Amino acid sequence: MTSWSGAVPLESVRAFVFDIDGTLVHRTGAEEVQAIPGAREVLDRIAASGRPFAVFTNGSHVPPDAFASQLRAAGLPVEDGQVLTPLCSVQSYLERFGGEAHVLPFATDPARRYLESVGIHLVDEPNGTDGPNGTRVDAVFVAHADRVDFEQLERAARAVIGGARLLTGSYVPAYAGADGPILSRGAMITAAIAKAGSARPVVVGKPSQAAVRVMRQLLGVRSEETAMVGDDFRLDVALGRLGRSTTVLVRSGISADLDLDRVPESQRPDLTIGTVAELLEWL
Ligand SMILES: [Mg+2]
Repeated sequence: MTSWSGAVPLESVRAFVFDIDGTLVHRTGAEEVQAIPGAREVLDRIAASGRPFAVFTNGSHVPPDAFASQLRAAGLPVEDGQVLTPLCSVQSYLERFGGEAHVLPFATDPARRYLESVGIHLVDEPNGTDGPNGTRVDAVFVAHADRVDFEQLERAARAVIGGARLLTGSYVPAYAGADGPILSRGAMITAAIAKAGSARPVVVGKPSQAAVRVMRQLLGVRSEETAMVGDDFRLDVALGRLGRSTTVLVRSGISADLDLDRVPESQRPDLTIGTVAELLEWL
């Protein structure tokens, strides 16, 4: 069932950002997805209207172009350059260091290679935490990681105590997988470092100012003139609200049974629809 919470015509929207899982596709395997009926038509219609769109997932175990490949394999017209993830928005956050940021990463090997390829200086050699000859650490960045050890956690916590920012792609406890919720390893690692380092983590994926900024940079459209479409009010709607975008919640994913009356008004979407296909009547 479609419901508007106010008069927010989609005709005035100049760009769109879509979440991936539960919004455009359902996940059928770790690296395999199936398009939700109507998703392709929606993206085609937007492209035909000359408006830019992007997709934004908080997935960070593989580089952004891997998500683009998955989407194309499912028949969706998404180019490599249209995918945003925390591996992209962290770059926007790190701009404040003027291209000189030294980052201690928790990430998979493919993600590390991606971060290095975009010019981020990764520092995770053993030793050199905070000693006089130690390597400077400006930020600890936690993406999805498939392994962790205490030496590395301790080094990160010491860096944070010494003033490094603690950045994380996402800090929700779990995300939707093909066979139900998957507990977030990134959140577990972040929590460990935050506790030991007495620091508050800064989210750089959805929802965050860094994410709003990277969307604007990619689309060339103000966030106020952008529509954010997603299945998770804690991530997608929250991101949209942060940038004063038009927010659309789809019921095809994690929010299928969500009782919106129990969500504080300040966190509700402008529009709630069953699936992305219902956007076709406004496009
Ligand atoms: Mg989702």
